[in-house]
Amino acid sequence: MDCPKCAVELEQQDDDHIALQRCGQCRGVWIDVAELNRVLLRHNLPGLEKLGGKPNIEELAGQCPQCQVDLVVIEGGPRRSQRYDTCESCGGIWLGQGLDGEESLAAMVDGIVVFFKKFGSMAA
Ligand SMILES: [Zn+2]
Ligand SMILES: [Zn+2]
Repeated sequence: MDCPKCAVELEQQDDDHIALQRCGQCRGVWIDVAELNRVLLRHNLPGLEKLGGKPNIEELAGQCPQCQVDLVVIEGGPRRSQRYDTCESCGGIWLGQGLDGEESLAAMVDGIVVFFKKFGSMAA
């Protein structure tokens, strides 16, 4: 699978708890929706569906690395400052925001949790 942004091959990263794909160039992360929900639930967050967020069809996103259909931008959090991209076909999630510099898988998971905590917070 290629990165939706850079068209370089994504790197598989996994351990006993999680599996995701990461772009070595832009540091974006591709994660399966079931996988993501497991991570959220394990960190006492509601599932993705309950975190809210609104599609923004005017924003351009890349293509799903699996389905080759256009991804949809979902915005949420305070003043819609957080965004992720999702594929309506396979449900995959692309996180291109807020994970820069996270090197280990555990740090990436922490980054994902922090992102979705912020995404789900409706404080203005
Ligand atoms: Zn990339
Ligand atoms: Zn897809």
